[in-house]
This record gives sequence, C-alpha cells and structure tokens, in this order.
Amino acid sequence: MDHDLLAPLFAPLTTLKGVGPTVAALIAKVADGERVIDLLFRPPESYQDRRHRPTIAQAKPGELATLAAEVVRHEEPANPRQPWRVVVTDGTGFAELVFFKFNRERQMPVGAKLLVSGKVEVFNGRRRISHPDHVVPADRPELLPAIEPVWPLTGGLWPRQVANAMVQALTRVPTLPEWHDAALLRREKWPGFVEALRAVQSPADLPGEGNRLRLAYDELLAGQVALALVRGRVRARPGRRLVGNGSLRAKALARFGHTLTASQHQAVAEIDGDLASDRRMLRLLQGDVGSGKTVVALLAMLRAVEAGAQAAMMAPTEVLAKQHHRTLSRLSPAPVALLTGGVKGRARAQLLRGLKDGSIPLVVGTHALFQESVDYHDLALAVIDEQHRFGVDQRLLLGGKGELTDVLVMTATPIPRTLLVTQWGEMDVSRLTEKPPGRQPVRTSLHSLGTLPELLDALARKLDEGAQVYWICPMVAESEALDIAAAESRFAVLRERFGERVGLAHGQQDAAVRDRTLAEFAGGQCRLLVATTVVEVGVDVPAASVMVIEHAERFGLAQLHQLRGRVGRGAAASFCLLLHEEWVNDVAKRRLTMLRDTEDGFLIADEDFRLRGGGDILGTKQSGLPGFRLADPIEHEGLLHMAHRDAAVLLGKDPKLESERGRAVRVLLRLFERTAAMRTLAAG
Ligand code: ADP
Ligand code: MG
Repeated sequence: MDHDLLAPLFAPLTTLKGVGPTVAALIAKVADGERVIDLLFRPPESYQDRRHRPTIAQAKPGELATLAAEVVRHEEPANPRQPWRVVVTDGTGFAELVFFKFNRERQMPVGAKLLVSGKVEVFNGRRRISHPDHVVPADRPELLPAIEPVWPLTGGLWPRQVANAMVQALTRVPTLPEWHDAALLRREKWPGFVEALRAVQSPADLPGEGNRLRLAYDELLAGQVALALVRGRVRARPGRRLVGNGSLRAKALARFGHTLTASQHQAVAEIDGDLASDRRMLRLLQGDVGSGKTVVALLAMLRAVEAGAQAAMMAPTEVLAKQHHRTLSRLSPAPVALLTGGVKGRARAQLLRGLKDGSIPLVVGTHALFQESVDYHDLALAVIDEQHRFGVDQRLLLGGKGELTDVLVMTATPIPRTLLVTQWGEMDVSRLTEKPPGRQPVRTSLHSLGTLPELLDALARKLDEGAQVYWICPMVAESEALDIAAAESRFAVLRERFGERVGLAHGQQDAAVRDRTLAEFAGGQCRLLVATTVVEVGVDVPAASVMVIEHAERFGLAQLHQLRGRVGRGAAASFCLLLHEEWVNDVAKRRLTMLRDTEDGFLIADEDFRLRGGGDILGTKQSGLPGFRLADPIEHEGLLHMAHRDAAVLLGKDPKLESERGRAVRVLLRLFERTAAMRTLAAG
C-alpha cells in the first residue's frame, strides 16, 4: 500500500497539470531529475519578500519593493535600441517602468491601476524599475506572490513556471505516517514532513529554520537507517583469509620503480591485516588527489590473486575505467581485463567466460562489473573508486556479488574523520597523508580573460620549451551543446595558433575519436589538450605540467583542486592558470585567491564550505557531499550524528522495522529511494 501511496511522486514531471514536455525538460535540469519528487526535493536558494509596500517617494534605490501606482503615460522609444518607458504615479511622486522589449500595452493602458514589484533604482533623479518581476492589476493582489522562492534557473525557464509546477507537485504528496519520534519533534519544535515541505517550497511566510532542518533530518535519518541495515547484513557474513607469497607484488613494485611513501606502506599494511583476517574488510582509502592511491589498490588486488582468487576495480565513468585499466596493465604482472558498457558482442562473451572460469584474475570497469549477467569464479576483493555518484549503501552491496568479498573504497574527498564515520558507517580508514617525493608545488595564478593575448604568448614559449598543457573549458548546466561549441571554438583558435600539436576531447565525441586523442596526449604527440570537464578527472599524464582552466569562477573549489592535481606529477615545475571573467563577485574572487594560495585539500574543502554560506554561489554542487538534496552533512553535522544514534537505537529495538514507527521509517526509506536497504529488509 505504501508503494502505491508514493507512486505519484515518482511519476514524470509531465504528469503535473500545466507542465508540458518542454517545461518539464527545463525543470528537470534545475531539479537534477525528471520526476515529481526531484522537483519537490529541490529547495530554493533564497526567498524574495514582496510584502514591502512603500510609496514612490519612500522607495529606496536597491530595495525590492511593490508599488501601487497608476499609469500616466507611455514614452515610446525613438529607435528600437532604446527602451520603452511607462510612467506611473501614486500621488507621492512619479516612477518609470523600463522595458527593453515591450508588448504589454493592453495590460498597462493609461489610467490602469497596477501593483508593480521589482528592484528600485534611481536614474537621472527619478525612481524606476527595469523589467519588473511582476505587474498585476491592483484589484487582483492575489496574483502577486508575497514570498517568492528563488530556485536556480536555466535559460528559457521562468520562475512562475517552477512555482506553478511546485504547487501542483505539492498536491501530489499524500498524507504520510510520522517516522520521527514524537518526543524529538516536540523538543525541536519541528513540523510534519508535508507541512515543512510546503513551508519551504510554496511559503505563505518566510519559512522558519525548523522546516529546513526537519527535511534535512528526514534525509539524514533515511541515509543512516539504510547504511545501518546494509552494514548489518554485510558484517553479519564472515570474510575469508587472504594471504599471498608476495611474488606478484614484488614484480609490480619493480615495474613501478618508485619506493612507496610511508603512508602508502602503512595503508598496505592495514589492508593486509584486513585481508588476512577472517572478518570482512570494509576500508576507506582516503588521500588527496595525486597522493598515490592507485598503486596501493593494485597491491591489494594482487594479494587476492596471489591467494588464488580474483579482484575487481570499479570506476564511476568509462573514461576513468580505461585510465585505471591502462595504469594497472602497465604495472601488473597478472593480466587485467576491461569491462565497460562499451565492450560488446564476442569480446564481451569471452570476457564474461574468463571471469566465470577464473582465467581472468583482474578486471577494471564501470558499474557494469556488478550487473546480473556477470558471474565471478571467486571474487575476493572489490576496489571502488568513489566519485560520489552512488549511494554508499548501494555500493557496499556490489549489486549482490560475492557475499564474502572484501571492499576497499578509494576517495579523494577530504572530509573530517568524525563525518566519515557517520557518512560511511564506521568503515575503517587508511589515510595517505603525504605526497610522493619529488613533487613540485604547482604555481597557481589568476588571470582575467581580457589578458588572453599575452597569456597565449607565454603559452607559446612554454610549448616551445616542451611543456604539455591541459586547457579545460567549463561545462555549465545551461546547455551542453553551447558548452561543446565553446570548447570547439577555443580549440579552433588554439589550433590556428599552435597547429597540429593541439587536440580536442569532449563528452559528445565519438568514443573512439576521444580515446585516440587522449592516447595521443598520454603518448606526447599531442601537446595541448583542450577538454571539457567530462573528460577531466583521473587522466594521468605525469609529463603534463601546465593546467589552464577557463572560466575558473564557474567551477567548485573542490573541482578546481582536483583539476589542478592533474599537473605537478612529474619532475618539471608546474603551473596552473585560472582564467576568469573580467568581473567576478567577491566570493568568487576569494575562492580563486584561496586556491591560488594553498594546495592543502583539507583547507580548501573547509574554506569552500565557509564561503558557500549565502546560497546562490556557484559550484555548490561540485563541492558538496554526494547524494544529499535536502541536507548538507557538513552544515548539518549535528543532525547527522543525531540521525546516526537515532538509527542505531531504532534498529536495536526493531531490527526488521515492524513496529509502528518502523513501518513509517520504511515509507521514509522509499521516499528517499534507499532501495538497497529495502532489499536487505525484504531478504530478511
Ligand atoms: P591518486 O591518489 O590521485 O589516485 P595516483 O595513484 O593517480 O594518485 O598517483 C599519482 C601519481 O603519482 C601517479 O603518476 C603515480 O605513478 C605517482 N606515484 C604514486 N606513488 C608514488 C611514489 N611512492 N613515488 C613516486 N611516484 C608515485
Ligand atoms: Mg586516482
């Protein structure tokens, strides 16, 4: 019954009244999903309060005001480049409404009494509002939203359209049982779920903090219960002892040719301890970008092979899977296979046979690795290169492959240990705290895009000296086609100047073409790689020493840090050039300055969080933690710990979620799509 209850929330946006396919597609971008629930769970970034109703004489420049006024006259533009002005008065003074495109004669005839809402400016001594946000007849005040939520918008989408869809979406939310403890709700003075959602998404008044906190807690509790359920199941199975004679490892280390850093040694020792014990390993390998996680993972995988079993490494994207495959193949004395969605037909069949009969000991791939059609002979270790795409609980189940399989998760996310614990549910943690020796610091500098000609001259010199260069063009949500076009025209300009040495890689290319370019860059034939961020992560070309990031102000700090980590890997002195729009706001400027001044991933993550505060700052998405829409585990750290304890107590008393509260929590799990946990419950 619960399932049917929630079904309307998981229906496509187009099932909402007044939402056609075009608007649905635009909203889907904003909401990061095309279902009703995605919209409901996309909170506004701020609110506009339109209740301020000064007279024209009182209205102050810079403030948001709603004026009640009468149209006096229209001043038509003398030529189409000038605006159309509508002069209005309320008896205390005159104001102008300014429109660059005017088609509202019928709505605003001389003598019409209007409510006009927008930002007040003063120009030539006269108050004016350019392109008012709302103009409604004075006798229809209900058409003007008193409190207007501000969602991020995308080209072609109007705030009204989101607001209307939201009102419709809210009518879909059924009455749900309360899943929180009554005493908690009383203590925190939190409203019910639906009430809180309404207050945040379609408010009659500025929503009190409690509403957002309630929703954040809903999401955090769902996460903690799910994690506890899955972990309980994973931990309930014994592991297996894996020991090896070190022969494969010794060969791999010889091929690697470097000595391990102290923290790499330590991590390998900790992993060995886990592998050799009969407890199942659940370990996080945390290390900043460039700290050398891959070789540690490989050594762990080789131990499994030495013990006569198999090991797999899962990457979040095909490009990254190929990158890991190249690296591991170079170092591993045992053969390494590659399994992605792109491997098809005979090759795939052959690979699957090899995994099933055990003749393939090592495999790298995307989530395809854990699909139903893939059987392993004896999978002893799964390494997961975390990129925040999947819920933790989903990952731990490995799609139901080996119940005994040890799990090692690699992450570059610099989150504090206390948070890790709750986020990952008490996994063991190994940390790589130092960079491999011989690393040069990356010299980072900021440049306005206006100085591009001089920069290109400097770049020409660098290229002539033999440097290899990444040139990253941003992906912004608005339109992938436009972004690709920007990358292509940048490529054209650089190609014109630097010739055949310049290559282009982006997500819309034919995979074969893109892979060839990436291989040419890795091989050194291509000297300057223009790429969108789609291809950015994980590409490892130690010889590359210059990173140019165009429109750096559009990236999250964490993402910039990751990108910068692509250089400074070899012996040469390295540079990172952050190109930004001539005009950037203070916060963006501080972010970039911060990045220029430090390479410490933890500091950067911290600052990223502090600078985010205000709301509509760019890059929130990239810098935030994975999988959360209503909560921010850093901002709501207190709530996260509370949810952690709450989940433990609940499951202690009611491990199968069969009590009244337990059944309500099942609805919560469905609402937040904790499907792996649901399966765990169903399996008993
Ligand atoms: P990440 O932690 O970002 O995954 P990688 O594993 O990709 O880092 O390693 C980054 C680079 O450092 C690679 O080129 C790798 O070969 C090199 N590297 C790793 N460990 C060492 C080491 N102990 N000494 C020298 N170079 C190392
Ligand atoms: Mg890596």
